[in-house]
Amino acid sequence: MTAVSDRSTEQAGRRDERKGRFEFNKLRKRLRRQVGKAIADFNLVEPGDRVMVCVSGGKDSHAMLELLIALRESAPVSFEIVAVTLDQKQPGYPEDVLPEYLETLNIPFYILERDTYSVVRSVIPEGKTTCGLCSRLRRGTLYGFAEQIGATKIALGHHRDDIVETAFLNMFFGGKLKAMPAKLKSDDGRHIVIRPLAYCRESDLAAYAEAMNFPIIPCNLCGTQENLQRQEVKQMLRAWEKQYPGRTETIFRSLGNVAPSHLMDHDLFDFKSLQGSVDDSAELPDIRVVNL
Ligand code: SF4
Repeated sequence: MTAVSDRSTEQAGRRDERKGRFEFNKLRKRLRRQVGKAIADFNLVEPGDRVMVCVSGGKDSHAMLELLIALRESAPVSFEIVAVTLDQKQPGYPEDVLPEYLETLNIPFYILERDTYSVVRSVIPEGKTTCGLCSRLRRGTLYGFAEQIGATKIALGHHRDDIVETAFLNMFFGGKLKAMPAKLKSDDGRHIVIRPLAYCRESDLAAYAEAMNFPIIPCNLCGTQENLQRQEVKQMLRAWEKQYPGRTETIFRSLGNVAPSHLMDHDLFDFKSLQGSVDDSAELPDIRVVNL
């Protein structure tokens, strides 16, 4: 009896394992397809590019790096990948984790060290959120380094949900219809920023990171809270998604399906020149009630 139940437990275990493997393969295929599509749709990577992949140690940037490396192997164009990570000197930052991991990937990588943590702490009053300034300093350092190594593209790990959240943040708090594009020229015009994960769902990336066992470094080592407004928008979107599954995807699609003539931006559409043509032969009828 015990032998029988042992055997069935074993069989069930093997079934679960097969199912798990099948689900993982589906997930990996989907993510690779979505990254490939974003690259093709926006011409994110071109032959001869040197792509500097920014790795923060979070789930998204880990997944982006791994997916780009895998895609490069089968890509018809040849391009370089250079991983770059920034040690911002937050207390408790596990400085060996990323170098040890990146070493295993067989690609060039750099660890930049810059104490932006002290700068942020000295500028932002206690209790206020520090993420805005911290991110700006991080961006500045990374862009500067990209120039130093002659990177033609800078790859950031923002995904579909980040893009939709940003659209609402700009709408709700900035009065702008603006999100995060998959490809962007930096404000100073010196860098091309790309977002290969633009079509990927955050939940897929989280599942992938877990299955791949990436060495995750949380971005809250300094004890600050993520921007409150972003949290609110995130919660709003989660609640919508729960009530109306697929809503985030629909909103995301709307960002690529814009009708300037049905918005209100005079710079995007020349409303003033819109004119109707009058039919001179048409006369005003003499009656008040018109049966059509
Ligand atoms: S949580 Fe992350 S972004 Fe925010 S201040 Fe800390 S390190 Fe910077």
